[in-house]
This record gives sequence, C-alpha cells and structure tokens, in this order.
Amino acid sequence: MTQDYAYICTMDTKAFESPFFSRQTRRLRLVMALGVGLMASACQNPGDWMEEERALIEEQPSVMRVLTVEDAQDLKVLRTQCRDFSARALKDPLYDELAGKMLATVTSPEQDGVGIAGPQVGISRRIVAVQRFDKEGEPFEVYPNIRITALRGERQPGREGCLSVPGRRGEVLRYQDIDISYTLPGSGRDTTERVEGFTAVIFQHEVDHLEGVLYIDKMQQEL
Ligand SMILES: [Zn+2]
Repeated sequence: MTQDYAYICTMDTKAFESPFFSRQTRRLRLVMALGVGLMASACQNPGDWMEEERALIEEQPSVMRVLTVEDAQDLKVLRTQCRDFSARALKDPLYDELAGKMLATVTSPEQDGVGIAGPQVGISRRIVAVQRFDKEGEPFEVYPNIRITALRGERQPGREGCLSVPGRRGEVLRYQDIDISYTLPGSGRDTTERVEGFTAVIFQHEVDHLEGVLYIDKMQQEL
C-alpha cells in the first residue's frame, strides 16, 4: 500500500524529463520543481500511518505497555488530541495488529479492564476497545474513528477507574443512552449505533481519552 502510494507521489516528477520542460527557462523549472515538492509532501495524509507508530506497534509484545499519569512523558501522550485513521491506514495489516494488541492488553490478567483507548498504549489515534456488556457473551470490540454523536436523558453517577490512573477510583456523572459513530474497517463506511447502560458509560470514558480528557477531570468525588 505504502509503496504503491509512494510511486504515485513520485510519478509526476517524470514530467520534467519531457522535451516540453527542457524548453522552459531555468526559473520556470525551479518554480515547477518546488510545486512538485509541495505536492509530494501533501501525499502524506495525516490519517496514514507514521513510521514512529509502526515501530511502536511492531516492536511491542502482544500485551502492550500501558501509559500512566505517573510518568511525565506518558502524561503528555495521554493529554494529546487524537487523529482519525485514513481509509488506507485501516486497510493496512498494521491496523489489525494494533487492534489485536489492544484487545490482548485490556483483557490481560494484569490489566483486567473493560475498555482501553489508543493513547493508553501510546498511539494518538481515534481507536477504542470496549467490552460490550449489552451483547450476548459480553465480547470486546474495537472501534476506529469513533465519536459520540448523541447524548440522551439525564447523567447518572457511577464508579470509575482507569488503567492509566493506577490505584484510584472516583464518582463520575455519565449519560446512559448515547449514539456512537465509527468506521467499519472492511468497507470503510461510517456507521452509527445506539448504546445504553453501563456500556454507554465505558464508551464515554474511552472517547474522552481521545480528546486528552481523563475521568479524574470530571470526577465528582474520590471514592
Ligand atoms: Zn481510562
């Protein structure tokens, strides 16, 4: 995928080898070359994978290190606004590797969580893994490019903790009836779904992570 795209990016430079361009002035050729340079840099969609992300995902074992607020560098990542995935990034096997490793991490005995978000494993992308307590068998599922698109009813208090905030618990008000939208990685289509109850609370906690927000920012009281 990446290689094909790099080829498309560089293809335009061949135009300069044509007789047409050899007749142009030096100055025009320089201006045009600068233009191609700009076009080439625009080929890198911000939603595509970056090499640093690839290295981080590929170098880690299936259970990834979970970032915590106790480390200053980790905290910076946890406070970073996340980016969407491009359609190309979702089709890259690296997406499946990240999704698989996030699932292995949140379900690992040492974490034993009900949800995890990209920044918690060092990836500033809109991706969460959530345990669907509202579905048969309570499976964990992964959602790329996720957003909450509707909040209904009154907020209700509930007890929350976070893998990135070790040793603490707090009471947070959350909606019990929401809509989520996300991208289906296979087709690249966006879809919307209504979620209720405790699973809706998990989605709100995890999607907050993608905005750099932690539950301790919203906590009514420490428990
Ligand atoms: Zn959390």
